[in-house]
Amino acid sequence: MMNQPLLQKKDNLTSIQSARLSFPALDQSVNDHPLVYFDNAATTHKPLSVLKSIDQFYSSYNSNVHRGVHSLSEKATEQYENARKSIQGFINAESAQEIIFVKGTTDAINLIAQSYGRSNIQAGDEILITEMEHHSNIVPWQILAEQNGCKLNIIPFNEKGELILENLDQLLSSKTKLVSVVHASNSLGTVNPIETIIRKAHLKGIPVLIDAAQSIQHGKIDVQKLDCDFLAFSGHKIYGPTGIGVLYGKKTLLEEMPPYQGGGDMINYVSFEKTTYNELPYKFEAGTPNIAGGIGLGAAIEFFQSYDINSIIAKEQALLKYGQKKLLEVPGLQLIGTAENKTAVFSFVLKDIHPHDIGTILNQYGIAVRTGHHCTQPVMAHYKIPATVRASLVFYNTEREIDFLVEKLHAVNEVFK
Ligand code: PMP
Repeated sequence: MMNQPLLQKKDNLTSIQSARLSFPALDQSVNDHPLVYFDNAATTHKPLSVLKSIDQFYSSYNSNVHRGVHSLSEKATEQYENARKSIQGFINAESAQEIIFVKGTTDAINLIAQSYGRSNIQAGDEILITEMEHHSNIVPWQILAEQNGCKLNIIPFNEKGELILENLDQLLSSKTKLVSVVHASNSLGTVNPIETIIRKAHLKGIPVLIDAAQSIQHGKIDVQKLDCDFLAFSGHKIYGPTGIGVLYGKKTLLEEMPPYQGGGDMINYVSFEKTTYNELPYKFEAGTPNIAGGIGLGAAIEFFQSYDINSIIAKEQALLKYGQKKLLEVPGLQLIGTAENKTAVFSFVLKDIHPHDIGTILNQYGIAVRTGHHCTQPVMAHYKIPATVRASLVFYNTEREIDFLVEKLHAVNEVFK
């Protein structure tokens, strides 16, 4: 019984619609109302198979990896490395050596800034990002700029929240040494045309890093097809645990890069005179890793892949269309981020009611939304607003939940009449 999947699911809409049965945390009441969880861009809930995989690690074969000759350590190593192989297959990396376990997207971008950046980017050189980056794809470059005098260049976006790419060729100058762009914006939902950006950057020999924190869970990413040089994502946004994520990098680039942190596991041989480093991916994985996290992320990827990705996309896009229509029925509601190509993220403001007040009232009805700048203050500055309310949906959400949100937004309007 234990080994059977919770749901007999495969490739059809029915199984997608019953997906939420796999998530124990969704089945609860908050403030005497059934939980409506619309904070998935911050973190998704975890299916039972992920919870079980972590529980099994700690309760049966808890052990450190890579160094042990005993059975528990061998099992832990096997499961941890199997997770790496699952992720390799999932994003179609050429080799498991290209999959580096990190803490999350933030950690991955900092790794690139401090390792690739410090050895390949000099004073006067430029890094090209966009106006809609999460702070984690801005600040690591600013730290690098303070260290070595490089500069940031910005691709702007229009009122709908779509990148303005007319001047991309000029922005990709002879000084540009790296392009680092978000695939899907966490505060606007916009899905950026990264294929075009990668192609144009490569025409000039410039490598590209993709922040896939908000896209990995909404579609199919094939790093070889995309031909991106680096790609980062966080486990906790794709139904996996917190504290674990992935940096993908092309092997040729990773091999040239110096280690980011020193310590156990990342070395080949240490002496006081000279230390040699371990092979990929271990060169970038100093110290005892997040073993349970890696195994849990492997289980999350297996879970995600057990669904037909086209059904997931169809469901989420249907929720997006439905939500866009319904939300605009609320008097005074303005959607922030109306790109043609977007994920099921609804950022909005409602008259002059403060987003925190809206979020607090919604919480009284068990509706979990996020309010604030969403770690994208330049996006807020663009629209000249301090904050938005953000409802972010995934395939386990429902149209009925959207109806309930809309109903309670009418109630918010009543309170502030
Ligand atoms: N980039 C984007 C687009 C994000 O949405 C987030 C998380 N909100 C991050 C980067 C950072 O991810 P983490 O906090 O998991 O490192």
